[in-house]
Amino acid sequence: REEVRSYGGRIEEGTVTSAERDATGFTVRPADGSAVHGRRLLVTTGLVDELPEVAGLAELWGRDVLHCPYCHGWEARDLAIGILGTGPLGVHQALMWRQWSESVTLFLHTGPEPGDEEYEQLAARGIAVVDGEVSALEQTDGRLSGVRLAAGTVVPCRALAVAPRLAARAGFLATLGLEPVGQEIAGTVIGTYIPGGPTGETAVPGVWVAGNVATPTEHVIGSVAAGNHAAAAINADLMAEDTRRAVAARRAGDAFRP
Ligand SMILES: Cc1cc2nc3c(=O)[nH]c(=O)nc-3n(C[C@H](O)[C@H](O)[C@H](O)COP(=O)(O)OP(=O)(O)OC[C@H]3O[C@@H](n4cnc5c(N)ncnc54)[C@H](O)[C@@H]3O)c2cc1C
Repeated sequence: REEVRSYGGRIEEGTVTSAERDATGFTVRPADGSAVHGRRLLVTTGLVDELPEVAGLAELWGRDVLHCPYCHGWEARDLAIGILGTGPLGVHQALMWRQWSESVTLFLHTGPEPGDEEYEQLAARGIAVVDGEVSALEQTDGRLSGVRLAAGTVVPCRALAVAPRLAARAGFLATLGLEPVGQEIAGTVIGTYIPGGPTGETAVPGVWVAGNVATPTEHVIGSVAAGNHAAAAINADLMAEDTRRAVAARRAGDAFRP
C-alpha cells in the first residue's frame, strides 16, 4: 500500500455495493454511502468459494480442506487424501491428487457413479472408491483426521479435496448491466465469471475485469498479469480520449484541459 501511495495512488477502505456511469466515467459507492469517481473502472473483486455443505468442512477450508493440487499438492504429499465427489469432475480430481499420494480415496457423496472406463482408471491408479454420503469431517487437535459417512463409518483422512462453486463477486455491477455468466469445464458448470476480452474489456465500454472475477481458475501470477494487460489497455483508451478531445479543442480554438 505504501508503494501504491508513493506513486500517487489512493487506497479507500470499504465494500463497494453499487457502480454507476456518469458524464465523465464511473462512480462506485461503498456501503458507508461515500463515493469514488474514476474515468474508467477496473474490477478485480475475485470470487467466493461456495463450499459443499458438510458439517465441519468450512472451518478446515484452506488448511486441510483443499481444492487445488497446484496450490496445496506439496503440503499434502503422501498424506491420506480424500476427494469429496459433488459432480462429474470427481474422478478427474482424484487422478490429479493421485500424483501427490499413493493413498487417495474418492468419496462418491453426491457425485455421479463413475463409468466403466473411469472405474478402470481409478483401479489402475490404486484409488479407493467409497459409496454413500459424507455427513461430517472429524478433527483431532484442529486438524482433519477422518471423513464420517452418513452410515456412521469414519474413514481416516488427513486432507480432503473439494470442488467449491466459484462465484464471481460482481453483484454491484448489475447496475451497469454486467451480470456473471456460467463458467464451464468439460461441460460442467463450475461457477460464474464476468466475460472480458483479451485485455479484460467487458461488454460495457469503460469497464475492465481482471483476475478471478474474470477467470475463476486463474492463479496469483495470471491474475496479476491480467491486471497488467488491463492497465495498459485502459491507459491506451484514456490517451485516445484525451487526444480526441485535444484535437476537438484545437479545432475550436479552445485550450484543452484533461
Ligand atoms: C485456499 C486457497 C489457496 C490458494 N493457493 C494459491 C497458491 O498457492 N498459488 C496461487 O497462485 N494461487 C492460489 N490461490 C488462488 C489465488 O488466491 C487467486 O488466484 C488470487 O487471489 C486471485 O486474485 P484476485 O485479485 O483476482 O482476487 P482476490 O485475491 O480474491 O482479491 C479480491 C479483492 O477484492 C476485494 N473485494 C471483493 N469484493 C469487493 C467489493 N465489493 N468492494 C471492495 N473490495 C472487494 C476482496 O476483499 C479482495 O481483497 C488459492 C486460493 C485459495 C482459495
